[in-house]
Amino acid sequence: MTVARTEDNPIRVGVLGARGRMGAEVCRAVEAAPDMEIVAMVDTGDWMFDIADAGAEVVVDFTHPDVVLDNIRFCVDHDIRCVVGTSGFDVAKLDTVRSWLEPKPALGVLVAPNFALGAVLSMRFAALAARYYASVEIIELHHNRKVDAPSGTATHTARLISAARADAGLAPGPDATTSEVDGARGATLGEVHVHSVRLPGLVAHQEILFGGDGETLTIRHDSFDRKGFMPGVLLGVRSILTRTGLIVGLENLLDL
Ligand code: NAD
Repeated sequence: MTVARTEDNPIRVGVLGARGRMGAEVCRAVEAAPDMEIVAMVDTGDWMFDIADAGAEVVVDFTHPDVVLDNIRFCVDHDIRCVVGTSGFDVAKLDTVRSWLEPKPALGVLVAPNFALGAVLSMRFAALAARYYASVEIIELHHNRKVDAPSGTATHTARLISAARADAGLAPGPDATTSEVDGARGATLGEVHVHSVRLPGLVAHQEILFGGDGETLTIRHDSFDRKGFMPGVLLGVRSILTRTGLIVGLENLLDL
């Protein structure tokens, strides 16, 4: 039986990357949530075992692609559930996490490339539209302190679109390009071209452009403030308590 979590019985949450831009926002959101309690805030140089010593049930990780796997390993070894927003996950990394969870069937890990509800919805809309258009390209735009490109969201979107196109038996979109300056057509993920823009002033934005005969469809999402990610993060924390295995994408926790 699942016991409802309240002020008297709050979910014990640890935050990794607690002094970072996202981590600090997560700390504020968890502190403000009536059914949660923040028990450990860990950043570079802090004692990682604080998370386990404090009895965290769920860890939220917004750190760096180079360290996130080690963090998840630590949590799985200590039977702590994870809600992971850090980017840089490819199929191999996801498979690695899955293999760690195999001997821990009661444990759950959520890896979500984007916690903004609008971004998750736009990915779902893109997956629905993909089968109807010959061509598709993605433009993702972020602040210039972002270390990885393309973004995790763009990679995930491209994966969803490629799967939908493959299901529909679509051939690669027509493209007459025979000569190009290196990178001019962006990165190719599956068969989707992805263009990454980095500029100060931006937060996180993505356009998915579909093209067919005589029409285009553009799906655009803009995150203007990190607060916009917090409802998704808190939903992830609440949901992962009763989920098992690796869950990739917040859409799996929404009733879409
Ligand atoms: P940031 O650089 O502001 O924060 C990262 C923090 O992690 C820093 O304070 C750093 O000191 C800390 N850190 C690094 N290694 C650590 C370790 N081993 N243990 C504990 N802390 C460690 O970056 P940010 O803008 O907050 O983004 C963090 C990550 O989240 C990035 O990968 C970014 O792409 C991703 N992100 C994801 C979403 C989403 O919705 N999934 C949204 C925004 C950002």
